[in-house]
Amino acid sequence: MESPESRKNASNDGSEGPDKASTERLDFIRTIVAEDNRTGKWDSRVHTRFPPEPNGYLHIGHAKSICLNFGIAAEFGGKCNLRFDDTNPSKEEQEYVDSIIEDVRWLGWDWKDRLYFASDYFQQMHDYAVQLIKAGKAYVCDLTAEETRQYRGTLTRPGKDSPYRNRSVEENLDLFERMRKGEFPDGSRTLRAKIDMAHANLNMRDPVMYRILHESHHRTGDAWCIYPMYDWAHGIEDSIERITHSICTLEFENHRPLYDWFLDALGAYHPQQIEFARLNLTYTVMSKRKLLRLVQDKHVSGWDDPRMPTLCGLRRRGYSPAAIRNFCKVIGVNKFNSTVDIALLEHCLREDLNRTAPRVMAVLKPLKLIIDNYPEGQIEELDAINNPEDASAGTRKVPFGRKLYIEQEDFMEEPPKKFFRLAPGREVRLRYAYFVTCTDVVKDPAGNVVEIHCTYDPATRGGDAPDGRKVKSTLHWVSAARSLPAEVRLYDGLSTKENPEDTEEGQDFTANLNPESLQVITGCRVEPALADTKPLDRFQFERLGYFCTDPDTQTEGRLIFNRTVGLRDTWAKIQQSQK
Ligand code: ATP
Ligand code: MG
Repeated sequence: MESPESRKNASNDGSEGPDKASTERLDFIRTIVAEDNRTGKWDSRVHTRFPPEPNGYLHIGHAKSICLNFGIAAEFGGKCNLRFDDTNPSKEEQEYVDSIIEDVRWLGWDWKDRLYFASDYFQQMHDYAVQLIKAGKAYVCDLTAEETRQYRGTLTRPGKDSPYRNRSVEENLDLFERMRKGEFPDGSRTLRAKIDMAHANLNMRDPVMYRILHESHHRTGDAWCIYPMYDWAHGIEDSIERITHSICTLEFENHRPLYDWFLDALGAYHPQQIEFARLNLTYTVMSKRKLLRLVQDKHVSGWDDPRMPTLCGLRRRGYSPAAIRNFCKVIGVNKFNSTVDIALLEHCLREDLNRTAPRVMAVLKPLKLIIDNYPEGQIEELDAINNPEDASAGTRKVPFGRKLYIEQEDFMEEPPKKFFRLAPGREVRLRYAYFVTCTDVVKDPAGNVVEIHCTYDPATRGGDAPDGRKVKSTLHWVSAARSLPAEVRLYDGLSTKENPEDTEEGQDFTANLNPESLQVITGCRVEPALADTKPLDRFQFERLGYFCTDPDTQTEGRLIFNRTVGLRDTWAKIQQSQK
């Protein structure tokens, strides 16, 4: 395995998720790879690649492709390249290259020295094009984009040959050379493959290989003014890198005949293209174009807004790489497009955080609680367990005193039947501390409860009554004197619709944006152990959910936490109800 982190995760496996049995069966792609290894088809080499176009940030859908390509390489003792498919200068930027590198690495994968750029192959692609022209298999065409479309025909109607289709090899070589030298304006000519204008597959109707584009490229600058089209470029990239299994999403199934035609026509090394269904998630927009729109139109604070399904957004939200990798393992791969319930992603997240996140106490909406029989000025350091799922995480001290904060929600002056938390006359446990009984409430002139008074039972230190008496609830709390102020940001789905594209006519996905997807709570209090927290540290705030430290904490010099996910596992619930 290439990645040390993933190796560790594969072997110590608490990380399997709910569906272990099915992940142990080989999926259809791994079955092909295993069979190829058995027959020696590729001399028992396994070499995959992850080929992002640097025109946006990676999202959770890309994670599926990353984990598939790097995962297969790792499992079969092979290699996986990180290759930028940077053939379209108008949308590509170095910023995206940098972010993609960071995100793939964060996910835990390692391409060693195999970082490649399609733009490094531009000369080879050009030379291959000349080879096809010389073989009479490509020609320069002067049709405009619109004419080319019209000549192409439709699914039910064959196309028409371009009037330029039968140019001589010499004329084609000359025109292509002049295209390359920059003699012609954008869009005036293309280089096309000479295949079959009546082919049942539209992709085979003399597809464009090169177009003229006088634009600077983020890596090659002004060296080129012709740029290769995806279908022409991609197979060559795979071929040059001697990829064995070129794994891509289903929308390229119709392009496979062309992938094969180009490589056969060149007589070049020829990988096998295999298609799988892309990931779709409920309540989630999953296309770089639409995510870019959310950023540009300022519906979110940036690509790394914690509501975004981008890897940097998920990271800032508090997702761990292990949780995402495990999710990708659990969903598996298949040939049919479907939509995965976002509750499954959150389930995988909780599974990981439950094992790894230290517990702390925080109060989001504080209500002052005064223990009248507790000595004024006294502070006790009580022992609290850092992680009940991990004994090695140890314990910490939490300061307790006469004045505390509890959650406003945990007190009701007139409790309904099923409310078991604090109420006048009632005794509850304060976690890791004592039993307290509410004796009095103080209200403001408007009648709101602003302070509650209690007595505590010193014999219940640590949270158990020696006489065996029980209480019906345990509340979290913080010391009023020692707790720290904090801001907490709660998130909900960006879309109110399970299918974000489900709109009225004339609207687009932005019509379904959830106006309440971000809720900022100020005036929160957290236990002092959080004083030194670093950006992206992950915690469980007891009873409230999983949280992580927002990077703004560092830049703004105050504590800011993102709620990663609540504690309630709706996926486990769904599964239970199906049993
Ligand atoms: P988008 O559709 O979001 O704009 P893309 O396919 O244009 O994405 P690329 O940079 O070309 O983005 O993607 C790199 C690789 O990731 C490709 O092999 C692509 O098939 C794969 N990929 C993209 N989106 C998904 C997805 N939702 N699920 C699985 N794989 C995906
Ligand atoms: Mg693409």
